[in-house]
Amino acid sequence: GSGSHAANGSTTSERKVTLLTGIIGQDDSYLTEFLLNKGYEGPVRSLLLRLSRTPSVNHIYIDPHNAHKACMKVHYADLTDASSLRCWLDNIQPHEVYNLAAQSHVAVSFEIPDYTADVVATGALRLLEAVISHITATGQTHIKYYQAGSSEMFGSTSLPQSEETPFHPRSPYAASKCAAHWYTVNYREAYGTFTCNVILFNHESPRRGENFVTRKITRVVGRIKIVLQNKLFLGNLQASRDWGLAGDYVEAMWMMLQQEKGDNYVVATEESHTVEEFLEVAFGYVGLNWKDHVVIDKRYFRPAEVDNLKGDSSKARKVLGRKYWLMLVIWMSNNSLKIYKTTVWSVLE
Ligand code: GDP
Repeated sequence: GSGSHAANGSTTSERKVTLLTGIIGQDDSYLTEFLLNKGYEGPVRSLLLRLSRTPSVNHIYIDPHNAHKACMKVHYADLTDASSLRCWLDNIQPHEVYNLAAQSHVAVSFEIPDYTADVVATGALRLLEAVISHITATGQTHIKYYQAGSSEMFGSTSLPQSEETPFHPRSPYAASKCAAHWYTVNYREAYGTFTCNVILFNHESPRRGENFVTRKITRVVGRIKIVLQNKLFLGNLQASRDWGLAGDYVEAMWMMLQQEKGDNYVVATEESHTVEEFLEVAFGYVGLNWKDHVVIDKRYFRPAEVDNLKGDSSKARKVLGRKYWLMLVIWMSNNSLKIYKTTVWSVLE
């Protein structure tokens, strides 16, 4: 029961045990920091086996041989390996399970669609199935499941997009996320399990992968400023996105699991800007004109594009009692060169 598996010998019944998937991602690292600040017992994380490094959580990770200090434990498991999921659920007996792992790059999902579906769609199904088997075997009905939805599921639809907007996925990634969404709804309806779909619109940070457009742009802006390079190759500049801050959105993730019943929510800033507008602000920030540096390269166009995303998160706003802001980050990421390195979070007007 609750408290009996607390780490460090603690038996406080309010402490919660959390399992997160997707350890190398930005969301996992911010959510871990958030949960530790809340006083959760160490979030226990499962790791995509083929990825051997954990860069975004290195600062939180403590060697397990220092167990009295360990606030986060890393375990090897994989969303493509059902037995590993069931094994860690039984072993850890978590109160909350956050499924954040994915092959999350839209363009890459056209190159490896089968793998994307296996991890994103069937992976969610495997984890849900493991949760149900775990409940059946142990009677631990308090367990709550979080499914990371994506605004990509809306694809080409009218604006703004809310929980009621029909999905029209435009990539293998988006179609897989739709499947995961409906598995999550179905397991809630079929078994009465507490499950949440939280559809996050794009969210960024210095920890965002460098092949996503905000980090690609801001990283290269830093490099151009210190004359490490001169050109930036990009695809479709007219696509418009609702960009929020990953570090902010983890609060919404957690909050949705603290409600009385599992539900579906849209989390967004409710503002949309084009990639071109983002370029103007990012280059303008360091006194440069993007038109002098950006070159359009067709390889970054997608076979099918999502032109316009803009969330309507009024339902989530009521639960959260707050609104999220649009973000911009300028960050020079090359640590060996400290000539120009700054982190700025600012609200675009
Ligand atoms: P996504 O919304 O989840 O696909 O997040 P991304 O950051 O990968 O892409 C956001 C938008 O930027 C999409 O509409 C892309 O087509 C557009 N974009 C334009 N050039 C690039 C590029 O060079 N890389 C990426 N990743 N996206 C680009």
